Amino acid sequence: MIDPSGDCDVAIVGAGIVGLATARELQQRNPDARIVVLEREDRVGVHQTGSNSGVAHAGIYYKPGSLKAKLCVEGVRRMYDFCEEHGVAHERCGKVIVALDRSELGRLDELERRGRANGVPGLKRIGPDELRELEPHAAGIEGLHSPQTGIVDFAGVARALAQQLEAGGGVVATRCAVDSFGRENGRKRIAHARGETRARQVIVCAGAWADRLAVAAGADPDPRIVPFRGGYLRLRADRRHLVRSLIYPVPDPDLPFLGVHLTKRVDGEILLGPTALVVGALDAYSLSRVRPRDLRATLGWPGSWKMMRRFWRTGISELRMAASRKAFVAACARYLPELEAGDVVDGPAGIRAQAVGRDGALVDDFVFSDAAGALFVRNAPSPAATSSLAIAAHIADRASQTP
Ligand SMILES: Cc1cc2nc3c(=O)[nH]c(=O)nc-3n(C[C@H](O)[C@H](O)[C@H](O)COP(=O)(O)OP(=O)(O)OC[C@H]3O[C@@H](n4cnc5c(N)ncnc54)[C@H](O)[C@@H]3O)c2cc1C
Repeated sequence: MIDPSGDCDVAIVGAGIVGLATARELQQRNPDARIVVLEREDRVGVHQTGSNSGVAHAGIYYKPGSLKAKLCVEGVRRMYDFCEEHGVAHERCGKVIVALDRSELGRLDELERRGRANGVPGLKRIGPDELRELEPHAAGIEGLHSPQTGIVDFAGVARALAQQLEAGGGVVATRCAVDSFGRENGRKRIAHARGETRARQVIVCAGAWADRLAVAAGADPDPRIVPFRGGYLRLRADRRHLVRSLIYPVPDPDLPFLGVHLTKRVDGEILLGPTALVVGALDAYSLSRVRPRDLRATLGWPGSWKMMRRFWRTGISELRMAASRKAFVAACARYLPELEAGDVVDGPAGIRAQAVGRDGALVDDFVFSDAAGALFVRNAPSPAATSSLAIAAHIADRASQTP
């Protein structure tokens, strides 16, 4: 096992897709730098990176001028290039966002406007005939077709990034949970499960644990990560023909989540979901898992209560979908009328690391901040997997300006 202790130039906490992309970007910019990635799990890409919808977003939804808009549009281009170069499974299968009735057309217009403002290539407004050609079994009166949207094996990307990094002399140390940070003679000290690493620069890309590590380093507790579990159903193999590529709803503009969608994966499976339920552990892949420390962190945060007061109706419908397969299937059948309860089996789950402000706002954009001499990724929810290679370049630019 590689020893991560001792001195290095840059230490990165977290071997998800963001941490690994950042490590590789820094190595490419400075091949002589000693770069160490410290990961608590026994392999890379375990958490959000390994349990998501696997969609390479084109950049439609995001507010023009936001980091999400800029880094997603740039990131998806880089992501496809990376997958082609390194043989990672991907497909530019395209997607449709469908309006079920006239009441959704205004919001579809706004998505089209944003997509065009963000420079998303190939966007096309489609009527019912074209929608039926693309997705013969989908409901909807109008749609927005994005041919640039696709699917990617993001866990495969993380593994390829780790290999690249190690081939260039970098270190990925697993089973190496970071506990605390300190300083010594102008260098940063990181205490972890396998000893201590001293670095000139520290970058923390810890997903759901981002706020905990930031606070441990002395940073502001605002925003706090609240875990939102996304549960999926899987379409039975003999019903996969119902979905050709990706069918998405027009999302609720007040929420950063895109709503339950129907998603082809690179392995040919069709996923239905994800739900978005606040849960009692940062790793509540099973609904019954509750960790007192995580639950205290969520319930002790004033923003959680403000958010729940504002979105209680959404919370109730999410609870209903989590508790009842029938309710979950009914939500998906709005987009796929032929879908029946017998067509699905249980699917995987992922935990979104969503930052919630003290004021109860669900933080929409990516957030990066400097504190106590380190750089922290404080909010990197979807589309951060798509955007990871562009996020890495953004972080590397920031890091180069930090002494
Ligand atoms: C249900 C769901 C669906 C999604 N769908 C999409 C999608 O279709 N497209 C898209 O682009 N994005 C999607 N996302 C978002 C995307 O998966 C994430 O934005 C992205 O994976 C974030 O990567 P990350 O590296 O920041 O986090 P993670 O992959 O969670 O990695 C963080 C890493 O930090 C490690 N870590 C934490 N604490 C410590 C510690 N103390 N010491 C050492 N290591 C530590 C963790 O073990 C973990 O490996 C989805 C997310 C979810 C949950």
